[in-house]
Amino acid sequence: MTATDDLVERNRTWSAAQAPSDLPIQPRLHVAVVTCMDSRLDLFDVLGLAPGEAHVLRNAGGIVTDDVVRSLAISQRKLGTREVVLVHHTDCGMQKITDDGFRAELQAASGVAPSFAIETFTDLEEDVAQSVRRVRRSAFLLYPEAVRGFVHDVASHELREVVVPGRAERRERDLDRERGVSPVRLAAS
Ligand SMILES: [Zn+2]
Repeated sequence: MTATDDLVERNRTWSAAQAPSDLPIQPRLHVAVVTCMDSRLDLFDVLGLAPGEAHVLRNAGGIVTDDVVRSLAISQRKLGTREVVLVHHTDCGMQKITDDGFRAELQAASGVAPSFAIETFTDLEEDVAQSVRRVRRSAFLLYPEAVRGFVHDVASHELREVVVPGRAERRERDLDRERGVSPVRLAAS
């Protein structure tokens, strides 16, 4: 029995015990979450989500790739979401390999260098910030400024926000600086 056979069997048991669902296609909270594929990260538990509430996009690292932007564009323009939440996490597999190393491994194994970026990272917070900036700079989204980034601690289960000053906050901070006021509020947009 393969793992897939096991999952199909689990579905048979589970679906038989479920009431029919008539949830609408548009996520009720109008939010899309981008996160890592890590098996320890149960996003529905971490964010208290229920089916029908949010779009969930996952890949290795929770990276905002062109394909994630494709999904977010559909999510916002066709399915009514208005906010993006990014969740990266501690002890991520993408911190344990390097772009050059994995690229060389793929090339050695296949004879072809991949055309895609590997997108490993070393600094977790900086990678969240980078992902926030990618969403903000996307020309294809309706709400590019409505994005916040977080780190989920897989050991403690806590979520920590990575504040990335946006255009409005930067303007305010610059004005404060001119006025001689020290910045006390750096909320993410
Ligand atoms: Zn990960």
